[in-house]
Amino acid sequence: MIVVVATQNKHKIKEINAITEPFGLELKSLSDVGLENHIVEEDGTTFEENSLKKAMEIHKLCGFATLADDSGLMVDALDGAPGVYSARYAGEDADDEQNNKKLLQALSDTPKNERTAKFVSVITMVFPGGEVLCARGECKGHIEYEACGSNGFGYDPLFIPEGFTKSFAQLDAEEKNRISHRAEALKVLAAMLEERQKS
Ligand code: IMP
Repeated sequence: MIVVVATQNKHKIKEINAITEPFGLELKSLSDVGLENHIVEEDGTTFEENSLKKAMEIHKLCGFATLADDSGLMVDALDGAPGVYSARYAGEDADDEQNNKKLLQALSDTPKNERTAKFVSVITMVFPGGEVLCARGECKGHIEYEACGSNGFGYDPLFIPEGFTKSFAQLDAEEKNRISHRAEALKVLAAMLEERQKS
């Protein structure tokens, strides 16, 4: 089955592809369907709202099954921030470094045992005909005092997953893909796809 992935983020496409390949999904990018310049406004207040909006809008434009992910980091000591605003935490055009710097500043007085956080990913798949599957995955951990490692993207250098001493940015891609919030959401989606095939 051809599935268009509604993201411009090459890291995410790579991660999604590594996980969906065994299920026989043939991923196409937005540029494969001529929609590389289409911007979906992420104005929802939940990951669910944003990922459904992205998947539905791209599906309506291209006609193929479409998969969209909305993800972010939720820090307990910050009441769940940056949350759905993770990409623009330090401002509309902020880059990863600026976002990480702002997060470290916001947590500068927070002791280690209160630096708990989780990455959340909600993956929504819309099929021709209007059927919708929505899968949520989470990965718990804590926020370090300084950036460590150079793999990955976003908040990876600051996030130590539960049970590990290395940050996401110090793990190799294979290891991150095994435990990440996106991997968890994709596992839930895979189970939903299997159920759907049966019925
Ligand atoms: P969106 O899901 O593309 O709206 O972006 C969410 C933002 O959350 C990204 O720009 C990153 O800052 C952050 N984020 C989401 N997933 C990850 C991840 O696996 N590692 C690091 N940061 C992430």
